[in-house]
Formats: sequence, C-alpha cells, structure tokens
Amino acid sequence: MANSSWYYREMGSRNKKTGKLSYYQVRVTDYKIDDCECPARSFRSYTPCKHMKRLQQKLTHLSI
Ligand SMILES: [Zn+2]
Repeated sequence: MANSSWYYREMGSRNKKTGKLSYYQVRVTDYKIDDCECPARSFRSYTPCKHMKRLQQKLTHLSI
C-alpha cells in the first residue's frame, strides 16, 4: 500500500550574498513529519532539522 505523502514549504535562511530567502520542502507522511530537503538532513538524517521542528510547532496535529 502506498503511503500518502505531502509537502509543506518552510522558510530557510537568507543567502548573505544575494539577500534571497531559501525555502525547503518538508515532507509529511501519514501525519508524521519525516523528511526535509535542507542540507542539514543529509548530515544528520536521524535528527529533525529546524524546519521540521518549526512545522510541528505550527501544525500540532502532526507528529515528528
Ligand atoms: Zn530542514
């Protein structure tokens, strides 16, 4: 059976050179926040990154 995944866009850090904000897609699978595309996740894939935590604070019905 396929999981149902969907994505939220979370604001990342501002690029110091261009002044542009970056955004990251945070993945939610079956009401669980389970991944984010930011670079921190590739180093520490077992630790929720700040975008995942921030999303969970906004959407408290989701687990992490
Ligand atoms: Zn992230």
